[in-house]
Amino acid sequence: MRTALAKLSAQPLDLLIIGGGIVGSGVARDAAMRGLRVGLVDQSDFASGTSSRSSRLLHGGLRYLAQGRLGLVHEASVEKTIIHHIAPHLAQPLAFIFPTRRGTEWKLWKLRIGVKIYDLLCHGRNLGKSTSFSAAKTLEELPQLKPDNLTGSVRYFDGLTNDARLVLDTLRSAEAHGALLANYTRLESSTRADDGWLCKLTDQLSGESVDVSARCVINAAGAWADRLPQSQVKLRLTKGVHLVIDRDRLPIADAVVMTEGSRILFAIPWGQRVILGTTDTDYTGPIESPRCEPADARYILDVTNANFSVKLNTDDIISTWAGLRPLIADPKGRPSDISRAHQIMTPQPGWIDVAGGKLTTYRLMAEQTVDLAAKQLAKNIPKSPTAEEPLLSDDSKFSGILPPEFSREAVEHYCRNEWAVHLADIMIRRTSWRYYYRNHAELARQAAQWMREICGWSEAEESREVSDYLAACSSR
Ligand SMILES: Cc1cc2nc3c(=O)[nH]c(=O)nc-3n(C[C@H](O)[C@H](O)[C@H](O)COP(=O)(O)OP(=O)(O)OC[C@H]3O[C@@H](n4cnc5c(N)ncnc54)[C@H](O)[C@@H]3O)c2cc1C
Repeated sequence: MRTALAKLSAQPLDLLIIGGGIVGSGVARDAAMRGLRVGLVDQSDFASGTSSRSSRLLHGGLRYLAQGRLGLVHEASVEKTIIHHIAPHLAQPLAFIFPTRRGTEWKLWKLRIGVKIYDLLCHGRNLGKSTSFSAAKTLEELPQLKPDNLTGSVRYFDGLTNDARLVLDTLRSAEAHGALLANYTRLESSTRADDGWLCKLTDQLSGESVDVSARCVINAAGAWADRLPQSQVKLRLTKGVHLVIDRDRLPIADAVVMTEGSRILFAIPWGQRVILGTTDTDYTGPIESPRCEPADARYILDVTNANFSVKLNTDDIISTWAGLRPLIADPKGRPSDISRAHQIMTPQPGWIDVAGGKLTTYRLMAEQTVDLAAKQLAKNIPKSPTAEEPLLSDDSKFSGILPPEFSREAVEHYCRNEWAVHLADIMIRRTSWRYYYRNHAELARQAAQWMREICGWSEAEESREVSDYLAACSSR
């Protein structure tokens, strides 16, 4: 039995958090920093759900401004500046150019006003100052842009992050403050006990089960949130797909907003690559394995080819990922119109559901959840320090927006200090090597060899890890 899991069952917890995505991790960090006895489990690897499959943006959401959702944009805009403050290594200011064209619903004059409001909604402290360009200046900035009907553009700022790294660094901070964390540990059932809940957890690696007592359970299970025993969450899942291509094929200095009718997509520079996305379609397939279907890839390539004078095709795709948005159910309306607001509910005493929201607003969601949990526990706890306290106490060469250098040292670090158990944990969540490098399979074989030495695997385990990893890649 792994140490964290053994410790989890040793004494009753104040909070047991189900889900090690960004929301659960944020709650664990906040609660541990405020002195609560906290445990967190994830049925798979940390960040293996939606929190490693996003567009990696810290954003207020210019699109939501167009929908008149000022409160939501304000909240997220402030949060993006807070993440920049507490985790500068995971919040790079990123300029976006939004070109406007005659005959479309995206009017230059409206966007000019929009981006000024956008700057003001961060209390005037946006990550950079917005501006606007004429059509000629826009083409100077973006020579590959199609010139047809161009009226000009606006340039505004958001942040680029690394979603999975944000989760892992938040968890490292939570652990440093005393939280007990176990990946590959699933909540099977929860029953009411004297002063809280008795939860049955199963170690997915050994098959063993333990009973854990917790005075309060936090359901932070993302797309799975409506499947937990006491949950009252109602979700509508939509799928979003991203493609990674070589930056030589689309040499953009700033991120670019691409339009397709009323939808917007992004081309986001990421080191020597560009991330293209995303789609937004209702999803009813298996939650564990949303995938990029050929039609999803075709759509994104077509939109990119329509916005730029390029002819991208499927051979240009280095990698793809697909994620599910755990949106609060609204059976009406198009997927893109459903609110990205979050919801925190107490369906029963000592059980809190926290759902919806965005990567960008995770810290606020966590603070509000822990405030509510303290009321449930009838405990006086200090105010949340998470808007001020840096996420990491030291500079880490193993955590950033771009993948770390491919090395044995890095692999060893993730195995020893960051709960990596399987090859995919390292190739996908810890490093993004899988998405960044076309020859990721070759790198994976080398990383597996190193893991064999570090983790004491047998030859058979090493080859099983490689084949499991390649199978996981083909389903992403
Ligand atoms: C395509 C796409 C693009 C996006 N882009 C952005 C963006 O650019 N910026 C932004 O701010 N937001 C973005 N978002 C939204 C953001 O990614 C999500 O809101 C966020 O990652 C959700 O985090 P979560 O912790 O709620 O869920 P998840 O990350 O899915 O975590 C839930 C975890 O619960 C675990 N779990 C489930 N059931 C159990 C159980 N029984 N026992 C134990 N563990 C369990 C799962 O394994 C999972 O790891 C995007 C979303 C998508 C899909």
